[in-house]
Amino acid sequence: MSGPNTSFDPKQVASLDAAAIDEMVAAAQADIAGAADLAQLKEARLAHAGDRSPLALANREIGALPPAAKAEAGKRVGQARNVVKSALEERQAALEIERDERALVEETVDVTVPTDRNPLGARHPLTTLMERVADVFVSMGYDIVEGPEVEAEWVNFDALNVPPDHPARTMQDTFFVESADSGVVLRTQTSPMQIRALLERDLPVYVIAPGRVFRTDELDATHTPVFHQIEGLAVDKGITMADLRGTLDHFAAAMFGDGIHTRMRPSYFPFTEPSAEVDLECFVCRGESVGNPERPCRTCGSEGWIEWGGCGMVNPRVLSAVGIDPNIYRGFAFGMGVERTLMFRNGVSDMRDMVEGDVRFSLAFGLEG
Ligand SMILES: [Zn+2]
Repeated sequence: MSGPNTSFDPKQVASLDAAAIDEMVAAAQADIAGAADLAQLKEARLAHAGDRSPLALANREIGALPPAAKAEAGKRVGQARNVVKSALEERQAALEIERDERALVEETVDVTVPTDRNPLGARHPLTTLMERVADVFVSMGYDIVEGPEVEAEWVNFDALNVPPDHPARTMQDTFFVESADSGVVLRTQTSPMQIRALLERDLPVYVIAPGRVFRTDELDATHTPVFHQIEGLAVDKGITMADLRGTLDHFAAAMFGDGIHTRMRPSYFPFTEPSAEVDLECFVCRGESVGNPERPCRTCGSEGWIEWGGCGMVNPRVLSAVGIDPNIYRGFAFGMGVERTLMFRNGVSDMRDMVEGDVRFSLAFGLEG
């Protein structure tokens, strides 16, 4: 502590006396020590070491002092500023270390914690099921074909031996594009792909046609106006119903397990003759639930068989319609509903779950396919 200056006007240099400088330093030290983070320390630096800080202003006043007082005041202010500067540097270093340590803790990645920050999507089970079916047939030498969903009425109906007065052609079942006499419909089945394949490809023809079809049904648990079918067609010389049967049995075993086979029940479709319904042996109980009340089977309703689709030998009139001589070539065709297959295969009870697009439904099927 230096003694009082008596050689200059005490009023003019009040901010330069020892007590005032000590106060400035104490205030600075308190703020610096109290700075909880680097942002607060920056404020303290501005307040106590900046151009407008009391010490900086005091430093400027030195120039106005009489020469005798300058040295002492300069030394005092200089020391004070050094004390503040060191305190700032110390606190800066301490806070930087704190910040780095906190970052290490907060930004540590725990690879064992489950995260859904980037939830994965899932492929729709109808898509994976159709691809699986297609794979089965590709391995047998079939080609996959796709065609328009907006289809000529002639291809969708007439060429498939569905005459104009057939009930399926009425407005009750069919979406007509523009008007009922426009001749253009949303295809009601994948069977028009039989016609397109036979018109566009060289014989023999072995194709599988998965695709979307449309009918004027209300959406409920068992109906949807947009659904999917898989159509198979083989046209070659010497094809018999035994080939159809063998193909369907192979298809059933590939999809539902070794030994699962099919049966046929006589039926009627305009574009096949003879025609049959295809039933699938129950792949859950393998028929053991039949007549066995102690082992009921939900999948087949304890009947041992599940209705699966339709099939038959290609009607000679269909072959004639596309210019193929039915005396030389014969063929078989079959079709299955993909939604229906997914329902009994995976126990989906409500068709609406398949069309609502909730990813949780698809996720439940995992990464199959
Ligand atoms: Zn069963």
